[in-house]
Amino acid sequence: MTRRHVGRLVAGLAAVLLPLGGAQVALATSAQAAPNAVNLCYDASDAPDYQAESTQAAANWNSVVQNVHLDSCGGATILIHETSGGGSYTQTDGHGSGDIYIDVQQVAEGNDPTRILAHEMGHNLGLPDHYSGPCSEIMSGHGPGPSCKNAMPDANEAAQVDQNFANGFAANAPALARVYR
Ligand SMILES: [Zn+2]
Repeated sequence: MTRRHVGRLVAGLAAVLLPLGGAQVALATSAQAAPNAVNLCYDASDAPDYQAESTQAAANWNSVVQNVHLDSCGGATILIHETSGGGSYTQTDGHGSGDIYIDVQQVAEGNDPTRILAHEMGHNLGLPDHYSGPCSEIMSGHGPGPSCKNAMPDANEAAQVDQNFANGFAANAPALARVYR
């Protein structure tokens, strides 16, 4: 191997190692993903106004669950779209695949977009609506009203999602495929 080849190899290794170092820093402040955690890819390219909110909503879930991890990556099974009117909703199998629609009018009315996205992601992770719940729950959705800005799932919600993905992609619950508002 010539010196030029070695130099190129070292440069390539450095480029790979740097992002890994960053990921380790991020993991230190969040839940450690289990070694066999299901990695779910989402694609928010059809929601151009909510890129940062999509990233934050996924990070919020990742910080409290171990058996599943949401990431922006290729071959996405969760597609995020923005729409106008009709309310935010998701059409999902309840186990990692679906389409999320965030309603820009609902956001204009004062509803927090990160909370909306985290709520709809919750449906894709197998959680039903619980509108009568408090603001501290993500699945209470619009129940507590637009003044509720909480975008973090509570401990019970996180535990249920971990249970839903305890067997990886294998569904361990009845089919949940439907449209959730
Ligand atoms: Zn809902």
